Amino acid sequence: MIPDWMSPDCRFFDTHAHLSDDGCPDEAEFYRRSEESGVPWILLCGSDFETSRRACEFASRFDGVYFAAGLHPLDIVKRPDPAERFAPFAEATRFVAVGEIGLDYYYEAETRDRQLDVFKSFLELALRLDRPAVVHTRDRDRDGGTLAYDDAYGLLSDFAADGGRFVLHSFAGNLDDLDRFAALGAYFGVGGMLTFKKADNIRALALRYPEDRILLETDSPYLAPVPYRGQENHPCLLPWTAHALASLRGWSVSATAKTTTSNAQRFFRISPQDEDTKQT
Ligand SMILES: [Zn+2]
Repeated sequence: MIPDWMSPDCRFFDTHAHLSDDGCPDEAEFYRRSEESGVPWILLCGSDFETSRRACEFASRFDGVYFAAGLHPLDIVKRPDPAERFAPFAEATRFVAVGEIGLDYYYEAETRDRQLDVFKSFLELALRLDRPAVVHTRDRDRDGGTLAYDDAYGLLSDFAADGGRFVLHSFAGNLDDLDRFAALGAYFGVGGMLTFKKADNIRALALRYPEDRILLETDSPYLAPVPYRGQENHPCLLPWTAHALASLRGWSVSATAKTTTSNAQRFFRISPQDEDTKQT
């Protein structure tokens, strides 16, 4: 399962994965595939209350698995649970972030006001629970006049001023967006799109991210990297994105593993000490 360009000491952190809609019939097998491929750490993100609860349960069973709880902007109409309902997740030790939350004007620009209210309430929850936010932002065409990045910037600058920390997962803004969010302390999630032939914009962004704020992610089961594009994604495919990032930035794959894993542990406040003990 380990490609020949990857040394066995490479250990990656998939900072954004989802369980597929049909659940995960064999959780042990799901985690084993990932761990054997050099990805012993996974952050499972909820997109509504039920998927957050499932991520919480899954995380309680495997040492390397953590979870985030939140309401995805495309789920706020179908499942409008208030942020407060998610607060008790903070009692679970593996709850390390609030998410996935954010704004999506690509599919649902018409719910903009509602999305802004919900996003704001979850950012307040993240501050109160002292956890970072995992943020999804997707715009319609900039000429379309619905500017998710501008709206997100407005809310996230207040959030950052109050001490909030956040990652822009699967970031696809422009270089100016990158710079202004970076000035707020943003971390940036790099996923399988980096390997797509036409994704020069994603590569230009990935070249420019501050080295100490890059996180790797799969967003599985979506967006599998080349050479698995089009298939169901899984955390075990993360090294392919890491390999592309390494080539792009002129890093070794081992250095890419070290840098991105330590960025993730710092961001989610997971002590490397605990992890080392766990591995022995
Ligand atoms: Zn996601």
